Amino acid sequence: MKQQKIWLSPPHMGGHELKYIQEAFDTNWISQSGFNIEEFERSLENYLGENSFVTALSSGTAAIHLALKLLNVEEGDFVICQSFTFVASANPILYLKAVPVFIDSETSTWNLCPNALEDSIKFCLKQGKKPKAIIAVSSYGMPFMVDEILEISRKYEIPVIEDSAEALGSEYKGRHCGTFGDLSVISFNGNKIITTSGGGVLVSRNQKDKDRTLFLATQAKENKNYYSHSEIGYNYRLGNISAGIGRGQMEVLEERIKQRRENHDFYQRIMADVDGISLFSALNEDFYSNYWLNAITIDPDKLSKEKLRKTFLENNVEIRYLWKPMHLQPLYKDCSFFGSGISGMLFDNGLCLPSGSNMTNDCKDRITEILSIFKN
Ligand SMILES: *Cc1c(COP(=O)(O)O)cnc(C)c1O
Repeated sequence: MKQQKIWLSPPHMGGHELKYIQEAFDTNWISQSGFNIEEFERSLENYLGENSFVTALSSGTAAIHLALKLLNVEEGDFVICQSFTFVASANPILYLKAVPVFIDSETSTWNLCPNALEDSIKFCLKQGKKPKAIIAVSSYGMPFMVDEILEISRKYEIPVIEDSAEALGSEYKGRHCGTFGDLSVISFNGNKIITTSGGGVLVSRNQKDKDRTLFLATQAKENKNYYSHSEIGYNYRLGNISAGIGRGQMEVLEERIKQRRENHDFYQRIMADVDGISLFSALNEDFYSNYWLNAITIDPDKLSKEKLRKTFLENNVEIRYLWKPMHLQPLYKDCSFFGSGISGMLFDNGLCLPSGSNMTNDCKDRITEILSIFKN
């Protein structure tokens, strides 16, 4: 008999989600407004701390789209974006017919390389056009080099959109991811550390930006007693049912972070004596990752990545490639890229391993057994 599938990052309910959904049914708040939405936003604002104004939206992608709108990104504008990421970081640039400029990773956080970032800004300035935004990602939950990136942002006065879709619960120098950008994005898609089934938030630094986000997310309907619209809007608000799931999930966030970080410790233990595999880990104490996904890189001279991958799959254990960088995607092949190719090397040599907070000891034993095949 085939063993049960071990997923990469499945949802993990806390227990109170249904209660909040029931409340929505009992009071007939089934639409895109209601108490669950307010409470979900409030709990996130409490969690992130001061200067965090949260708007609940239908997805993280929608949040990035609205962040670009808030920064007045228009057709033909340059927007700088990390290349090593999920495609959702970059697609909203194309929604607005703006021009993505892709930046390589550095080797310690796998995120924006400060040197390549600065090179790209100089390149844009030489063409007489200052980039409108920098999209900085915290991949797999690992914070990007916050100090270095924010310094460049300040030096050239280009705002940062912090794509912390994967990084709720991560910290840099004791501060939460989701608080570093001029605008920050968190996703609650089904595979993230906690979920609303589908959803995301835009975190702004002031009430005015929050008001504008809500305005754009609700068809840019003006405050008049008839339907009045002067600019284009979107239907991007999160529903009250989904927000009920989010409320329940916020109650167990700390536990989920602990569980994901324990998975990382587990991988560290079982990989210690496998030659040729390096587990992606925090550079030093400044970086506190939620370890949303555990990632490895493989030395091709010592071990076959494809053999490892196939062995996992044959045992019904999900395993995936790392992000294929945007500058290597057919969709983005004509875009500029700055860097030396680190992100491409990560794609060539890396894999993502099961990292769910509900991974049982039995699952861990199966993974340990598979890896033991590769010990020498
Ligand atoms: C998941 C994700 C998004 C998009 O979030 P959705 O809620 O799925 O739209 C954006 N950026 C990154 C890095 C992500 O992992």
